[in-house]
Amino acid sequence: MPPAPVFKRVLLKVSGEALMGGESFGISPQVLDYVADELIKAHRLGVEVGVVLGGGNIFRGVSDSARHMDRVQADYMGMLATVVNSIALQDALERKGVPTRVMTAITMPQVAEPYIRRRAIRHLEKGRIVILGAGTGNPYFSTDTAAALRAEEIGAEVLMKATKVDGIYDSDPVKNPEAQKLPQVTYDQVLAQHLKVMDATAISLAGDNKLPVIVFDLLEPDNIKRVLLGEKVGSRVEV
Ligand code: UDP
Repeated sequence: MPPAPVFKRVLLKVSGEALMGGESFGISPQVLDYVADELIKAHRLGVEVGVVLGGGNIFRGVSDSARHMDRVQADYMGMLATVVNSIALQDALERKGVPTRVMTAITMPQVAEPYIRRRAIRHLEKGRIVILGAGTGNPYFSTDTAAALRAEEIGAEVLMKATKVDGIYDSDPVKNPEAQKLPQVTYDQVLAQHLKVMDATAISLAGDNKLPVIVFDLLEPDNIKRVLLGEKVGSRVEV
């Protein structure tokens, strides 16, 4: 018998920046294809998967290019950027024959379904990969917070944060060759030591609800599948 997954329903967060691959802006078709393939491996295990994508590859409300803008306007642009990414991922998945739904926190019915929690759960139960766009729908939040929020709402057992590093470090491993990887940390430790996992709002929300967070390298093939099979991949944030 093939190994069985340890989770039934998960929420995967992929940053917009990861979708850029080697490009300086926008979406790399190769990375998009790769993410779709990795998600299909999860889908084949029978795990119900919700996905939240960032928008940093297109626009961030707090970026330099937005510094003269009204923050709220800039954040709406950022949220729309996540919808652009969501549609791109939907297209990549459906070209490969996997059923999906995009649901957005800001309604745009010509483009995607509105996010309605009970419908999202129904789609998951029917085996569709559900891509949740437009963040929380509110300015001043991040897509990490959207991921923690949606994970709780849809009853995901874990928030899987796929990033460019292979876990949580005590300092930035890109800048500090002595940086130590921390296989397991608590929510309080992340907040107290300012560990670069997710922003404080997202970590607090996850911590308040005891939602485990697993941080791992997106670009290591099979990592999503390995996390789902319960292998020790990346770092975990738990109580
Ligand atoms: N954003 C927002 N509210 C949300 C989620 C996102 O206003 O609930 C905006 C915010 O401007 C943010 C941008 O969308 O900078 C893109 O999201 P994020 O920076 O989290 O993307 P990532 O860093 O994961 O690519």
